Amino acid sequence: MESVSPDYARAHVLIIGAGPAGTACAIRLAQRGVKDVLLVDSHDFPRDKTCGSGLSGSAVAALKALGAWGRIAPLAYPIQGIRVVTPAGHEAVSDGGEDRHAFVCVRRVLDAEMLTVARERGVRFIPHFKAAHPILQGQRWVGMEDTEGRVIRADVVVVATGAHCKWTLSTEPKYSVHAIMGWWDDVPYSPHCVEMIWYRALDGYYGWLFPEGGRRVNIGITYSDRVKEPGARELFTSFLDRHYGERLQGATQVGDWKGHPIVYGWKLGRLWSPGRIVIGEAGHMTNPFTSEGISQAMRSGIFAADALGDVHDGVKSETEALDHYESTCARTFLPSFWASGAFLAAARTPVLDAVVKATQSSFLKNTIGKALSHL
Ligand SMILES: Cc1cc2nc3c(=O)[nH]c(=O)nc-3n(C[C@H](O)[C@H](O)[C@H](O)COP(=O)(O)OP(=O)(O)OC[C@H]3O[C@@H](n4cnc5c(N)ncnc54)[C@H](O)[C@@H]3O)c2cc1C
Repeated sequence: MESVSPDYARAHVLIIGAGPAGTACAIRLAQRGVKDVLLVDSHDFPRDKTCGSGLSGSAVAALKALGAWGRIAPLAYPIQGIRVVTPAGHEAVSDGGEDRHAFVCVRRVLDAEMLTVARERGVRFIPHFKAAHPILQGQRWVGMEDTEGRVIRADVVVVATGAHCKWTLSTEPKYSVHAIMGWWDDVPYSPHCVEMIWYRALDGYYGWLFPEGGRRVNIGITYSDRVKEPGARELFTSFLDRHYGERLQGATQVGDWKGHPIVYGWKLGRLWSPGRIVIGEAGHMTNPFTSEGISQAMRSGIFAADALGDVHDGVKSETEALDHYESTCARTFLPSFWASGAFLAAARTPVLDAVVKATQSSFLKNTIGKALSHL
């Protein structure tokens, strides 16, 4: 006789993955009065996540809507300027005036704080639960089993497992940007200013320096599948030598370099099936060029929670609410992805060099810097 594991836990909504998508969804469900929400993750928190940790204005707006910004703001480093270097070495600098719309908040801190907010709102959390197999009743998802055979049953399962997700529904093509990055102490940097450096070998993509506050910065590169060689470490080494050689001389590297893919799509396709909703990077909602994904993760988590809230309140059927979720994500995110794709195409030509070189006007240079910082 087949042995059936006894249920380990039960919830109304089970959220798999406690990154920004999963925690935003959990907090929003609590705001909507949906009870019995259980969040699980294969890790305990705080945990590291390979990420530049840049928070755009829309990420900050999402945190404010979730009532989490008050806790995170004192731990985030404000950004008001951007330095851009084109492939031919022309520079544009925008000081951003007194506006501080963007921040850097280390993911170890951001994700743990968001989880704390969720728990304070009554969401339960189970760490070290590595989801392995969905539990099905007919076509409907009714729970998840982990790698140790523990079963959690639920009415709805929200999939928020990030770039390496196994349970994405979309049949639309998925693409990856490669990234490698590291952390250093005591690299000289302009306070409150991020750097975006175009380097020809990255095929239109760029390298960055993000100050994390205090003595620490993170530096990394992204590049596409079209770059076949050299390997990631060689590419990163040549980028660092070319653009940061001098500034790294008195600096101390902190930990190892980390590589991680960024997964995106030009179309989103299906984001739900009966009993299953996919949010965040698991649903390919990442900017194809800037690699921004925190804001989309949180906002898709909020949209999904609102859909479940509407079902809970009896305002919409599950099909109506989740179809609306799907179309809201596409309408909200795809136009900026397509605009970024156009910028990437232009960055592969001499256009960026020509524009920055031709503009002696500081107004235009500032405008370029500002436009980039809003992509
Ligand atoms: C090098 C790099 C730099 C980046 N820089 C930025 C940036 O500056 N700004 C920005 O906005 N975005 C950036 N991104 C993108 C951003 O990191 C992601 O898009 C964002 O983290 C997606 O959030 P998420 O919640 O969907 O997934 P994640 O943050 O990946 O969270 C997924 C969670 O699910 C858990 N999980 C995974 N599998 C399982 C499983 N089987 N069972 C249980 N739990 C599981 C993981 O432990 C994790 O906690 C960067 C990405 C990379 C790789």
